[in-house]
Amino acid sequence: MFEEIKERYNRILFPGRFQPLHYGHIEVIKWMLNFGDEIIIAIGSAQKSHMVDNPFTAGERMVMIREALKEEGFDLSKFYIVPVPDIEYNSIWISYLESLLPPFDAVCSRNPLVIRLAKEERYDVLVPPFFLRSEYSGKKIRKKMLSGEKWESYVPPSVARIIKQISGIQRLIDSSLSDELE
Ligand code: NAP
Repeated sequence: MFEEIKERYNRILFPGRFQPLHYGHIEVIKWMLNFGDEIIIAIGSAQKSHMVDNPFTAGERMVMIREALKEEGFDLSKFYIVPVPDIEYNSIWISYLESLLPPFDAVCSRNPLVIRLAKEERYDVLVPPFFLRSEYSGKKIRKKMLSGEKWESYVPPSVARIIKQISGIQRLIDSSLSDELE
């Protein structure tokens, strides 16, 4: 919420799965730069890929994010893009992030668990507004990919290009078929 934002931050942590990065995330990043000098984009669930909810590897997501930031005209020197595998213990997740990442002084998220964990460790939390949530949602974009609908306009062109290069739609379809077998 706006009232929680007290000052300008040195480095804001932005955790997400980015499956895939879409224009909603780009809008959140633009919004965050009003409040902080540098952004750490932590690619969460880095160990997951080849699943309907998590089709892309951490490395693929790193390339998508970097290429999209370049394409959208962001100054890359302001960004750290770091893959972070999940851990079993939510209670120590923030300490785990502190041990892996450059120091940060605020966390940006709309995810209730992330907000709860960050507040418990006394971090300021920036909750971005919804940016066209009806369209910019990873889940909806993956659904469109699976059902053969147009999805390209919801993601930066570089992200669409990389997904096509790695045959990402076919991977998603294959992953959904193996999910059905379970
Ligand atoms: P996400 O779906 O990629 O989204 C990243 C952030 O951007 C979320 O706060 C999301 O809000 C926001 N966002 C997305 N689209 C938006 C839009 N159109 N307008 C405004 N905001 C938008 O990622 P996430 O699921 O929150 O990722 C959290 C990561 O942290 C996961 O990988 C999770 O596993 C990890 N984590 C791990 C642990 C652990 O290891 N124990 C504990 C906590 C979290 P919404 O939430 O509203 O979509």
